[in-house]
Amino acid sequence: MNKETYLGVDVAPLTYKQVIKEITQRIDQNEQSTVIAVNPEKIMKSQSDETLRGLINGSTFQIPDGVGVLLASKLKGGQIHSRVTGVEMMGYLLHLAEQKSLRVFFYGAKEEVVTKAIENIQHDYPNIIVAGYENGYEQDNNKIITHIQESEADMLFVALGSPKQELWIRDHKDQLPVKVFQGVGGSFDVYAGNVERAPEFFRNNGLEWLYRLIKEPKRFKRQLALPKFLFTILKSK
Ligand code: UDP
Repeated sequence: MNKETYLGVDVAPLTYKQVIKEITQRIDQNEQSTVIAVNPEKIMKSQSDETLRGLINGSTFQIPDGVGVLLASKLKGGQIHSRVTGVEMMGYLLHLAEQKSLRVFFYGAKEEVVTKAIENIQHDYPNIIVAGYENGYEQDNNKIITHIQESEADMLFVALGSPKQELWIRDHKDQLPVKVFQGVGGSFDVYAGNVERAPEFFRNNGLEWLYRLIKEPKRFKRQLALPKFLFTILKSK
């Protein structure tokens, strides 16, 4: 797969459907896949954080989350034409799991959040096979590993926040029977109905960041990563 590289960080120029197609082929070939969402904040952090850069570049699919990556691709004549968000990618993967009768495990978030998320997912994807779940505050890591092994999960969503979830996946994927791993950040909270996504108007016009800023003005500092990122991209070759 050809990747695009922004400031040393790889991004896969694929749509949801293309990612699903490649993951399906890899499952058939018995290969593991890891999915990580990439945004300007993570790319900027990777400039001084080699571990994070290694986590991103070491993943199988770096999906272009965040409108900033899209703009960078436009500026550099790349092939990324639409956003691929972590939360929507999870929806596509759940659909794939349903179609292929894959067993899905959910690890992360608070107990009441992960259970509510599963309840809503079972409503939206009635044929989904839930292999099991663990909340993200369980301290006994061996217990979690054994639970996932015994569940014979094929697909695992890890919601511990970034980069904690990606580090966990990197450190444990060889011990697990799982074929598809995705670090999903706050997505269980979204599926549980605790976090609203931005209204369609904001999402369709690349203005999700503006909606977030209006709702949570203290995100301003985090969002400065976007202009900084675009400025650095413009200066780079
Ligand atoms: N979380 C967890 N265990 C921890 C820390 C965080 O399960 O030790 C969960 C937290 O409850 C929330 C998610 O991880 O559901 C983090 O979401 P956030 O939106 O902060 O992640 P981001 O997408 O910003 O990385």
